[in-house]
Amino acid sequence: MKTVGFIGWRGMVGSVLINRMIKKKDFDGINAIFFTTSQHGGTIPLNIKNKCRILQDAYNIEILSSLDIIITCQGSEYTNKIYFQLRKKGWNGYWIDAASNLRTLIDSVIVLDPINLNLIKKKINMGIKTFVGGNCTVSLMLMSLGGLFKYNLVDWISVSTYQAASGAGSKFMKELIIQMGYIYNHISHLINDASVSIIDIERKISTLMNNTNFPKKNFLAPLVNNLIPWIDKKINNGQTKEEWKGTFETNKILNTNTIIPIDGICVRVATLRSHSQSFTIKLKKDLSTDNITEILNSHNKWVKIIPNNYSDTINLLTPSSVSGTLSLSVGRIKKLNIDKNCFSIFAVGDQLLWGASEPLRRMLKLLI
Ligand code: NAP
Repeated sequence: MKTVGFIGWRGMVGSVLINRMIKKKDFDGINAIFFTTSQHGGTIPLNIKNKCRILQDAYNIEILSSLDIIITCQGSEYTNKIYFQLRKKGWNGYWIDAASNLRTLIDSVIVLDPINLNLIKKKINMGIKTFVGGNCTVSLMLMSLGGLFKYNLVDWISVSTYQAASGAGSKFMKELIIQMGYIYNHISHLINDASVSIIDIERKISTLMNNTNFPKKNFLAPLVNNLIPWIDKKINNGQTKEEWKGTFETNKILNTNTIIPIDGICVRVATLRSHSQSFTIKLKKDLSTDNITEILNSHNKWVKIIPNNYSDTINLLTPSSVSGTLSLSVGRIKKLNIDKNCFSIFAVGDQLLWGASEPLRRMLKLLI
């Protein structure tokens, strides 16, 4: 049995991963050792077979070096600190990572097996040992639009994202909830007061949001009742790093010979979980909406086509309708009156599942 170390298991991605692994009985086939950067020596609050009960120090290179496989959802800072040290020391085990920093290594593979299983298998046979989950919006896009990529139909894609607060990490998600409570606590007594107009309430909320006491330590701006059209750091062509990942990661996952350009604006919105994306897609061929629907629908069993009508859209093409599930809702499929072969598609998926933990879980299964 392989010995697998879990790091970052109590964070959002990590806890979703562990729950899926428990549900799928993945722990039956491995010896699991749990690590922490903050609480080593404590015991693990999880009821899992084949695991060591004591939490180990995630910075202990000796123990890490004894593992066959390390799976980390801890974040880039941890990966930067530990990965290169371990490799330098000669550790030759498999490293599976949710963080972004190893995705650009020449000898790493970005994993999304319903899209690139053959590439993953080829790289395993070549002796590659570093496997990294893709950016959440890239993985969700590839899973939702997989059929179009499979048949090499995409000329280019322009995308606007609507990314949930949880995509930034647990502290950010908590901050959005605190912001919701802060506003409600300050105006709730006015809501049913007939003498106060709704515009007065809105003005009061705006004043609260501009107040220096407003809780925004992490986002640095109010997210509730607002949006932030900027995710990650600036790179020198005007894009953010999140936007840059669209072309780089998509083409690395697909292992394309000719680059498929994908660009747009990534936006943080005040939802708690699940990311949405609005795509403008230029196809290489003139296809009908029925053709496109069939191609998308037949690519993988998680795609759910949502009919292009009001009732289905408001109920089924929303973050709240997919959160906690592996479903990828795909709708608003229509020809655009802009140019030949241009389509719009709106897609929603749980970024903590297909956008983060599920490709890692499936990679681990491939290795064991
Ligand atoms: P997170 O929830 O912030 O957790 C990261 C670590 O923070 C935990 O493993 C834990 O480490 C520590 N932590 C401190 N206080 C905590 C608390 N109250 N609850 C839980 N954990 C706490 O980060 P994440 O969102 O899962 O992201 C992990 C990695 O996955 C990052 O590299 C991120 O970029 C990537 N990723 C995230 C998403 C997403 O949607 N969130 C999607 C794709 C990729 P200790 O136990 O060691 O203290």
